[in-house]
Amino acid sequence: MPGKVTLVGAGPGDPGLLTRKGLEALQKAEVVVYDRLVSPAILAMMPETAEQINVGKQASRHPVPQEQINRILLDKALEGKNVVRLKGGDPFLFGRGGEELELLAEHGVPFEEVPGISSSIAAPAYGGIPVTHRDCCSSLHIITGHQRSGKTLDIDFEALVRTRGTLVFLMGVSALPDICAGLLAAGMEPATPAAVVERGTTPAQRRISAALAALPEAAEAAKVESPAVIVVGGVCALAEQFDWFDKLPLKGRHVVVTRPKERVGTLAARLRELGADVWEYPCIATRPLDPCPAMDDAMERLGDYEWLALTSPAGADALWRWLEAKGKDARALGGLRLAAIGPGTARALAAHGLRPDYVPAVYDAAHLGAGLPAAGRVLILRAQEGSPALTEALAKRNIGFNDVATYRTVYENPRSRELRELVEGEGVTLVTFTSASTVKGFVSSVGEDADFSRVVGACIGAQTAAEAEKHGIPVRVAREATMDALVELIAAL
Ligand code: SAH
Repeated sequence: MPGKVTLVGAGPGDPGLLTRKGLEALQKAEVVVYDRLVSPAILAMMPETAEQINVGKQASRHPVPQEQINRILLDKALEGKNVVRLKGGDPFLFGRGGEELELLAEHGVPFEEVPGISSSIAAPAYGGIPVTHRDCCSSLHIITGHQRSGKTLDIDFEALVRTRGTLVFLMGVSALPDICAGLLAAGMEPATPAAVVERGTTPAQRRISAALAALPEAAEAAKVESPAVIVVGGVCALAEQFDWFDKLPLKGRHVVVTRPKERVGTLAARLRELGADVWEYPCIATRPLDPCPAMDDAMERLGDYEWLALTSPAGADALWRWLEAKGKDARALGGLRLAAIGPGTARALAAHGLRPDYVPAVYDAAHLGAGLPAAGRVLILRAQEGSPALTEALAKRNIGFNDVATYRTVYENPRSRELRELVEGEGVTLVTFTSASTVKGFVSSVGEDADFSRVVGACIGAQTAAEAEKHGIPVRVAREATMDALVELIAAL
């Protein structure tokens, strides 16, 4: 039985512009064949187990020839694999999507196509240019500006000028002077508004606007590079007024998000919404301790405890995993009172229909220990390397406890060169720290000996900040220990 090939449009760059259907296909993929223009944040959405095949251009190497790509898709599908072919923008718009389906059709391999948001519309949109507007045009034309080496452009400029519509050229950066000259020779007004949008919808987006006759010079002065779209027509005059993307509060800023992989998503997405260039570096990961005799013992004698305290969503996950493995559910917790360190952990409980009886006013271990209204014993389920502040505070109040490690934190990405270059490079890099262990994971990835003086560590709380300061990282601390407050802090920096 052959597998299936799903041709998925990855959109122009902003990972939020991948369609839901495209995401679903990606999450089910066993093999992902992708191009140069697909953003790393989208590649991060595929399952870790998926085989990744990069057929795009590498720095000095050439791209994989088209026939070979077609062959890879066919072979993998014939092996019975569920294959996703990820392409920039929309696969059928100058994307050779049709060519890739031909061989599959000949061999009776099932396929599907998930359209993507094309750069031809999205890049102008993020540059403040609506591709049509009732006041200035009644058609839109998308043209390839690709020039075979040594050949002249095969474009009917007279026909294009006659349409009086908006013209969008893809693959036209190197042919820009010829495109503009062609339009002028065909009688287009030299003052016609025009623009180039480079790396549209990404944090590195730039828009260069000029009159048609002056555009080649303006683009050259700005050293415009591919990928970029060229837009010609009255709608380009609206850009100054509609330019929303460049005005986002975090536009142009680099933010490194260090949360564990399973929780990185929402913080990264919210920072991207504010225009930040987000680098997802999940420097830590949590691994359940399995088997976990200490947890078995404690859970079998829950009657000995008055309180159950959780200090992270990962601790809540460990609790459910244990209950599920034993064929139990939340009723097993019976009369126990529940404490959560903060809203994130409270939400992890709420997902199972439980509401914590206590959440400290300040969301950290010290305040949880100092404020927990306990008379009897407390069962704590948390990480192996949990903060001593909690147990010290309980001990000081003569409250009995059992501190059970249910998972451990491991450091990922050891010694990432890319991350180090960013940290020590020009300009300030913001790094988000959501726990002391994310600081440790980050420092071990970058290298203890790095110069952290240009980093700003945006920390969720005091203990996290203290850990960062130990490594010479300048810090700012959120108003309270929540993701909302952390995002608020970063937006105000
Ligand atoms: N199928 C793609 C286009 C592939 S052709 C789509 O629908 O978007 C490649 C050309 O697309 C590039 O030369 C450039 O002109 C354009 N392009 C792709 N991504 C872009 C981006 N983020 N910003 C501007 N132009 C882009």
